[in-house]
Amino acid sequence: MLRFLLFLFPLLLSPAAQAFIPKAEKVVDNVYAIVGPLGQRNADNDGLNANFGFVVTPAGVILVDSGASKLGAEKLEAAIRAVTDRPVRWVVNTGSQDHRWLGNDHFASKGAQVIALARTAATQAQFADQQLAGLKNFLGDRLAGTAPLHAQKPLQQDSATLELGGETLVLAYTDAHYPGDAWVWLPKRGVLFTGDLVYVDRLLGVLPMSSVRQGQKAFHRLAALKPKVIVPGHGRVCDLAKAQAETGDYYDFLAEKIGAAAKDMEPMDATLNKFADLPRFKSLENYDALHRANMNRAFVEFEAP
Ligand SMILES: [Zn+2]
Repeated sequence: MLRFLLFLFPLLLSPAAQAFIPKAEKVVDNVYAIVGPLGQRNADNDGLNANFGFVVTPAGVILVDSGASKLGAEKLEAAIRAVTDRPVRWVVNTGSQDHRWLGNDHFASKGAQVIALARTAATQAQFADQQLAGLKNFLGDRLAGTAPLHAQKPLQQDSATLELGGETLVLAYTDAHYPGDAWVWLPKRGVLFTGDLVYVDRLLGVLPMSSVRQGQKAFHRLAALKPKVIVPGHGRVCDLAKAQAETGDYYDFLAEKIGAAAKDMEPMDATLNKFADLPRFKSLENYDALHRANMNRAFVEFEAP
Protein backbone atom coordinates (compact mmCIF):
# COMPACT_ATOMS: atom_id res chain seq x y z
CA MET A 1 0.00 0.00 0.00
CA LEU A 2 2.76 2.41 0.99
CA ARG A 3 4.64 1.62 -2.17
CA PHE A 4 1.51 2.35 -4.18
CA LEU A 5 1.07 5.74 -2.46
CA LEU A 6 4.70 6.61 -3.10
CA PHE A 7 4.15 5.75 -6.73
CA LEU A 8 1.06 7.96 -6.84
CA PHE A 9 2.66 10.92 -5.10
CA PRO A 10 4.57 12.37 -8.09
CA LEU A 11 1.47 11.93 -10.25
CA LEU A 12 -0.57 13.99 -7.81
CA LEU A 13 2.06 16.69 -7.98
CA SER A 14 2.34 16.64 -11.73
CA PRO A 15 0.17 19.72 -12.55
CA ALA A 16 2.50 21.89 -10.45
CA ALA A 17 5.54 20.20 -11.97
CA GLN A 18 4.44 21.46 -15.40
CA ALA A 19 3.99 25.03 -14.22
CA PHE A 20 6.01 27.62 -16.10
CA ILE A 21 8.91 28.89 -13.99
CA PRO A 22 10.42 31.99 -15.60
CA LYS A 23 14.20 32.07 -15.92
CA ALA A 24 16.42 35.05 -16.60
CA GLU A 25 18.75 34.73 -19.56
CA LYS A 26 21.66 37.11 -19.99
CA VAL A 27 21.43 39.38 -23.05
CA VAL A 28 24.53 41.52 -22.40
CA ASP A 29 26.24 42.35 -19.08
CA ASN A 30 23.60 43.29 -16.49
CA VAL A 31 20.76 43.04 -19.01
CA TYR A 32 18.45 40.01 -18.91
CA ALA A 33 15.46 38.67 -20.81
CA ILE A 34 12.74 36.42 -19.45
CA VAL A 35 11.19 34.52 -22.35
CA GLY A 36 7.67 33.24 -21.81
CA PRO A 37 5.83 30.43 -23.61
CA LEU A 38 4.29 31.06 -27.04
CA GLY A 39 0.83 29.69 -26.32
CA GLN A 40 -2.25 31.02 -24.58
CA ARG A 41 -2.55 32.28 -21.01
CA ASN A 42 -3.29 29.54 -18.47
CA ALA A 43 -3.05 28.73 -14.78
CA ASP A 44 0.33 27.03 -15.28
CA ASN A 45 1.97 30.06 -16.89
CA ASP A 46 0.06 32.65 -14.82
CA GLY A 47 -0.45 34.74 -17.95
CA LEU A 48 3.32 35.07 -18.48
CA ASN A 49 2.97 34.10 -22.16
CA ALA A 50 5.12 37.03 -23.28
CA ASN A 51 8.64 38.34 -22.78
CA PHE A 52 9.94 40.50 -19.98
CA GLY A 53 13.33 41.89 -19.17
CA PHE A 54 15.38 43.67 -16.58
CA VAL A 55 18.52 45.72 -16.13
CA VAL A 56 20.59 45.45 -12.96
CA THR A 57 22.05 48.84 -11.98
CA PRO A 58 24.04 49.83 -8.88
CA ALA A 59 20.92 51.64 -7.63
CA GLY A 60 18.52 48.73 -8.16
CA VAL A 61 16.69 46.83 -10.86
CA ILE A 62 14.79 48.29 -13.82
CA LEU A 63 12.04 45.83 -14.82
CA VAL A 64 10.53 45.98 -18.31
CA ASP A 65 6.89 44.85 -17.98
CA SER A 66 5.41 43.25 -14.90
CA GLY A 67 3.31 40.19 -15.81
CA ALA A 68 -0.45 39.58 -15.93
CA SER A 69 -1.22 38.99 -12.25
CA LYS A 70 0.08 39.21 -8.71
CA LEU A 71 1.26 35.59 -8.80
CA GLY A 72 2.84 36.16 -12.20
CA ALA A 73 4.67 39.20 -10.82
CA GLU A 74 5.93 37.10 -7.91
CA LYS A 75 7.29 34.55 -10.38
CA LEU A 76 9.12 37.32 -12.28
CA GLU A 77 10.48 38.60 -8.99
CA ALA A 78 11.82 35.12 -8.15
CA ALA A 79 13.57 35.01 -11.55
CA ILE A 80 15.20 38.38 -10.78
CA ARG A 81 16.18 37.15 -7.29
CA ALA A 82 18.12 34.30 -8.89
CA VAL A 83 20.38 36.96 -10.47
CA THR A 84 20.56 39.79 -7.93
CA ASP A 85 19.47 40.77 -4.41
CA ARG A 86 18.93 44.38 -5.45
CA PRO A 87 15.35 45.64 -5.21
CA VAL A 88 13.18 46.42 -8.22
CA ARG A 89 13.20 50.23 -8.15
CA TRP A 90 11.50 50.96 -11.46
CA VAL A 91 8.92 49.17 -13.62
CA VAL A 92 8.72 50.40 -17.21
CA ASN A 93 5.62 49.35 -19.18
CA THR A 94 5.94 48.85 -22.94
CA GLY A 95 2.24 48.32 -23.41
CA SER A 96 -1.25 47.93 -22.13
CA GLN A 97 -1.97 44.30 -22.86
CA ASP A 98 -2.59 42.41 -19.59
CA HIS A 99 0.82 40.70 -19.36
CA ARG A 100 2.63 44.00 -19.76
CA TRP A 101 1.26 45.73 -16.68
CA LEU A 102 -1.13 43.90 -14.33
CA GLY A 103 1.83 42.99 -12.09
CA ASN A 104 2.65 46.70 -11.54
CA ASP A 105 0.78 46.84 -8.23
CA HIS A 106 2.87 44.02 -6.76
CA PHE A 107 6.16 45.83 -7.44
CA ALA A 108 4.75 49.25 -6.47
CA SER A 109 3.66 47.81 -3.11
CA LYS A 110 7.35 47.09 -2.50
CA GLY A 111 8.41 50.60 -3.39
CA ALA A 112 8.96 50.50 -7.16
CA GLN A 113 8.05 53.45 -9.34
CA VAL A 114 5.85 52.63 -12.36
CA ILE A 115 6.88 54.42 -15.56
CA ALA A 116 4.89 54.63 -18.80
CA LEU A 117 4.04 57.02 -21.61
CA ALA A 118 0.67 58.77 -21.35
CA ARG A 119 -1.20 56.85 -24.07
CA THR A 120 0.08 53.57 -22.66
CA ALA A 121 -1.32 54.40 -19.22
CA ALA A 122 -4.59 55.67 -20.73
CA THR A 123 -5.09 52.46 -22.72
CA GLN A 124 -4.32 50.40 -19.62
CA ALA A 125 -7.06 52.24 -17.73
CA GLN A 126 -9.46 51.80 -20.64
CA PHE A 127 -8.99 48.02 -20.95
CA ALA A 128 -8.41 47.09 -17.28
CA ASP A 129 -11.89 45.70 -16.51
CA GLN A 130 -12.12 43.80 -19.78
CA GLN A 131 -8.66 42.28 -19.26
CA LEU A 132 -9.37 41.20 -15.69
CA ALA A 133 -12.63 39.55 -16.78
CA GLY A 134 -10.81 37.74 -19.62
CA LEU A 135 -7.96 36.64 -17.35
CA LYS A 136 -10.41 35.24 -14.82
CA ASN A 137 -11.42 32.69 -17.48
CA PHE A 138 -7.82 31.65 -18.10
CA LEU A 139 -6.30 31.89 -14.61
CA GLY A 140 -9.28 31.27 -12.31
CA ASP A 141 -8.41 31.59 -8.62
CA ARG A 142 -4.79 32.34 -9.49
CA LEU A 143 -5.86 35.85 -10.50
CA ALA A 144 -6.63 36.61 -6.82
CA GLY A 145 -4.94 39.69 -5.38
CA THR A 146 -4.33 41.31 -8.78
CA ALA A 147 -5.10 45.02 -8.79
CA PRO A 148 -4.72 47.24 -11.87
CA LEU A 149 -2.27 50.06 -11.28
CA HIS A 150 -1.01 52.26 -14.08
CA ALA A 151 1.74 54.88 -13.91
CA GLN A 152 0.62 57.71 -11.65
CA LYS A 153 2.61 60.38 -13.49
CA PRO A 154 2.70 59.17 -17.10
CA LEU A 155 5.18 60.84 -19.44
CA GLN A 156 3.56 63.28 -21.86
CA GLN A 157 6.13 63.33 -24.66
CA ASP A 158 6.15 60.91 -27.63
CA SER A 159 9.61 59.70 -26.74
CA ALA A 160 11.23 59.96 -23.32
CA THR A 161 14.89 59.48 -22.42
CA LEU A 162 15.24 58.14 -18.88
CA GLU A 163 18.40 58.01 -16.78
CA LEU A 164 17.85 55.34 -14.13
CA GLY A 165 20.66 54.05 -11.95
CA GLY A 166 23.22 55.23 -14.53
CA GLU A 167 21.45 53.38 -17.37
CA THR A 168 19.96 55.27 -20.34
CA LEU A 169 16.59 54.09 -21.65
CA VAL A 170 14.60 55.56 -24.50
CA LEU A 171 10.89 54.83 -24.25
CA ALA A 172 9.10 55.55 -27.55
CA TYR A 173 5.71 54.76 -29.05
CA THR A 174 5.18 52.01 -31.60
CA ASP A 175 1.34 51.95 -31.48
CA ALA A 176 1.17 48.66 -33.37
CA HIS A 177 -0.48 45.87 -31.35
CA TYR A 178 -2.35 48.13 -28.91
CA PRO A 179 -2.63 51.92 -29.06
CA GLY A 180 0.10 53.42 -26.88
CA ASP A 181 2.45 50.43 -27.19
CA ALA A 182 6.10 51.42 -26.87
CA TRP A 183 9.62 50.03 -26.98
CA VAL A 184 12.53 50.39 -24.57
CA TRP A 185 15.83 51.11 -26.30
CA LEU A 186 19.16 50.91 -24.50
CA PRO A 187 21.31 53.01 -26.85
CA LYS A 188 24.60 52.39 -25.03
CA ARG A 189 24.08 48.62 -25.31
CA GLY A 190 22.37 48.30 -28.68
CA VAL A 191 19.60 46.29 -26.98
CA LEU A 192 15.93 46.84 -27.85
CA PHE A 193 12.99 45.53 -25.83
CA THR A 194 10.35 45.80 -28.52
CA GLY A 195 7.19 45.17 -26.52
CA ASP A 196 4.43 43.75 -28.71
CA LEU A 197 5.84 45.25 -31.91
CA VAL A 198 8.00 42.20 -32.67
CA TYR A 199 6.92 38.57 -32.57
CA VAL A 200 9.29 35.79 -33.61
CA ASP A 201 8.84 31.99 -33.64
CA ARG A 202 5.08 32.65 -33.67
CA LEU A 203 2.96 34.75 -36.00
CA LEU A 204 2.05 38.19 -34.70
CA GLY A 205 -1.62 38.89 -34.04
CA VAL A 206 -3.54 41.80 -35.49
CA LEU A 207 -6.32 42.65 -33.02
CA PRO A 208 -9.32 44.91 -33.63
CA MET A 209 -7.43 47.71 -31.81
CA SER A 210 -4.11 47.03 -33.61
CA SER A 211 -2.76 49.13 -36.46
CA VAL A 212 -0.92 47.52 -39.36
CA ARG A 213 -0.01 50.97 -40.71
CA GLN A 214 1.63 51.93 -37.41
CA GLY A 215 3.26 48.51 -37.11
CA GLN A 216 4.88 48.84 -40.50
CA LYS A 217 6.12 52.36 -39.78
CA ALA A 218 7.40 51.43 -36.33
CA PHE A 219 9.28 48.44 -37.73
CA HIS A 220 11.00 50.65 -40.29
CA ARG A 221 12.09 52.95 -37.42
CA LEU A 222 13.29 49.89 -35.51
CA ALA A 223 15.44 48.73 -38.44
CA ALA A 224 16.99 52.22 -38.63
CA LEU A 225 18.18 51.89 -35.01
CA LYS A 226 20.23 48.83 -36.07
CA PRO A 227 19.86 47.07 -32.70
CA LYS A 228 22.51 44.45 -31.93
CA VAL A 229 20.11 42.35 -29.85
CA ILE A 230 16.33 42.29 -29.93
CA VAL A 231 14.21 41.08 -27.06
CA PRO A 232 10.92 40.62 -28.90
CA GLY A 233 7.47 40.84 -27.30
CA HIS A 234 7.03 37.13 -27.94
CA GLY A 235 9.52 34.46 -29.03
CA ARG A 236 13.23 33.94 -28.45
CA VAL A 237 15.83 36.69 -28.18
CA CYS A 238 17.04 37.39 -31.71
CA ASP A 239 18.89 39.62 -34.14
CA LEU A 240 17.51 42.18 -36.58
CA ALA A 241 17.52 39.74 -39.50
CA LYS A 242 15.19 37.32 -37.73
CA ALA A 243 12.87 40.11 -36.53
CA GLN A 244 12.82 41.48 -40.08
CA ALA A 245 11.93 38.09 -41.57
CA GLU A 246 9.23 37.16 -39.05
CA THR A 247 7.65 40.54 -38.19
CA GLY A 248 8.93 43.33 -40.47
CA ASP A 249 8.31 41.39 -43.67
CA TYR A 250 4.86 40.33 -42.45
CA TYR A 251 3.84 43.93 -41.71
CA ASP A 252 5.17 44.87 -45.16
CA PHE A 253 3.13 42.03 -46.70
CA LEU A 254 -0.06 43.11 -44.88
CA ALA A 255 0.37 46.76 -45.88
CA GLU A 256 1.63 46.23 -49.41
CA LYS A 257 -0.50 43.28 -50.58
CA ILE A 258 -3.64 43.32 -48.43
CA GLY A 259 -3.65 47.08 -47.89
CA ALA A 260 -3.14 47.76 -51.58
CA ALA A 261 -5.98 45.38 -52.55
CA ALA A 262 -8.28 47.11 -50.06
CA LYS A 263 -7.42 50.54 -51.42
CA ASP A 264 -8.04 49.28 -54.98
CA MET A 265 -11.47 48.07 -53.78
CA GLU A 266 -10.81 44.47 -54.73
CA PRO A 267 -13.19 41.95 -53.09
CA MET A 268 -12.04 40.98 -49.61
CA ASP A 269 -12.76 37.24 -49.76
CA ALA A 270 -10.91 36.72 -53.03
CA THR A 271 -7.96 38.69 -51.66
CA LEU A 272 -7.76 36.63 -48.46
CA ASN A 273 -7.98 33.40 -50.47
CA LYS A 274 -5.23 34.53 -52.80
CA PHE A 275 -2.80 35.08 -49.91
CA ALA A 276 -3.96 32.28 -47.59
CA ASP A 277 -0.88 30.17 -48.24
CA LEU A 278 2.37 32.01 -47.55
CA PRO A 279 5.33 29.63 -47.36
CA ARG A 280 7.56 32.36 -45.85
CA PHE A 281 5.47 32.60 -42.70
CA LYS A 282 3.76 29.23 -42.57
CA SER A 283 6.24 27.60 -40.21
CA LEU A 284 5.53 30.20 -37.51
CA GLU A 285 3.40 28.98 -34.63
CA ASN A 286 -0.24 30.16 -34.64
CA TYR A 287 -0.17 30.75 -38.40
CA ASP A 288 -3.26 28.60 -39.00
CA ALA A 289 -5.19 30.28 -36.20
CA LEU A 290 -4.27 33.89 -36.94
CA HIS A 291 -3.20 34.54 -40.51
CA ARG A 292 -6.65 34.89 -42.10
CA ALA A 293 -8.02 37.07 -39.28
CA ASN A 294 -4.88 39.23 -39.50
CA MET A 295 -5.43 39.80 -43.22
CA ASN A 296 -9.09 40.51 -42.60
CA ARG A 297 -8.29 43.24 -40.06
CA ALA A 298 -5.57 44.71 -42.25
CA PHE A 299 -8.05 44.86 -45.13
CA VAL A 300 -10.62 46.69 -43.00
CA GLU A 301 -7.98 49.16 -41.77
CA PHE A 302 -6.79 50.05 -45.26
CA GLU A 303 -10.29 50.10 -46.70
CA ALA A 304 -11.13 53.07 -44.50
CA PRO A 305 -10.37 56.38 -46.20
ZN1 LIG B 1 1.60 40.38 -25.99
